[in-house]
Amino acid sequence: MSKNIPALQVEGMIKNFGDHEVLKGIDLTAHTGDVISIVGSSGSGKSTFLRCINLLETPNAGKVHVHGELIRMKTLKDGSQEAADKRQLQRIRTKLAMVFQSFNLWSHLTILENVIEAPVHVLGVPKKEAIERADALLQKVGMYERRDYYPGHVSGGQQQRAAIARALAIEPEVLLFDEPTSALDPELVGEVLKVMTDLAEEGRTMLVVTHEMGFAKGVSSHVMYLHQGRVEEFGNPTDVFENPKSERMKQFLQRDF
Ligand code: ADP
Ligand code: MG
Repeated sequence: MSKNIPALQVEGMIKNFGDHEVLKGIDLTAHTGDVISIVGSSGSGKSTFLRCINLLETPNAGKVHVHGELIRMKTLKDGSQEAADKRQLQRIRTKLAMVFQSFNLWSHLTILENVIEAPVHVLGVPKKEAIERADALLQKVGMYERRDYYPGHVSGGQQQRAAIARALAIEPEVLLFDEPTSALDPELVGEVLKVMTDLAEEGRTMLVVTHEMGFAKGVSSHVMYLHQGRVEEFGNPTDVFENPKSERMKQFLQRDF
């Protein structure tokens, strides 16, 4: 596939909840291999932005292209939008894998069963092949030995590493992370960041909402700072962290993380 077509392009994304304009026109271009950290105060719209990209939330306006393919939308009577073509949406969703703060593994399925669920039931991969691939992914995230455990019987860091393996199992174009380490005990944060750093070094395309400034500064190719639903600052980590243009970004960086 052409390097010149962005893996993900978002144009003019707007999202309102009632009268509250949460996203006020956000643009983003992620080329293959980009790792874009999205930072900002609580309530600035970071989660809503990720959720609008894969249409877990429907934007009021805006376009999303995944590797050049526009997700077709239709406008409803109340002005909100939804996907015009459910089959296209389902296909494109498999190119955008999300990792949540709260892991969201199925508690009644083992780690391995969680990882093969979408490949087998959504993508139609034969079970034997799905298990082979899942085992390789579980090796990669250091969870192979725990593959037959239920999520409730492993630590939060292990659950999140399993959730990352599950996200990788659909072979997505772009990985979307929404504060993947925020729910973890401090001593478990490092093992998850390590897996994410490995993925970044492999050249995966990633959007990462995070409060881990070390990761944002040291691992990402770009940093986006959102403030009240607008992109207040965007650039390479060195410029954004060492020489921010916006006063708000300066203040934000003075906080304790
Ligand atoms: P962040 O992830 O940056 O903390 P969010 O995207 O979760 O911010 O929220 C942005 C704003 O949108 C907040 O004011 C929040 O209260 C509001 N919001 C988010 N989801 C909903 C919803 N489902 N209904 C109404 N308001 C919402
Ligand atoms: Mg959030």
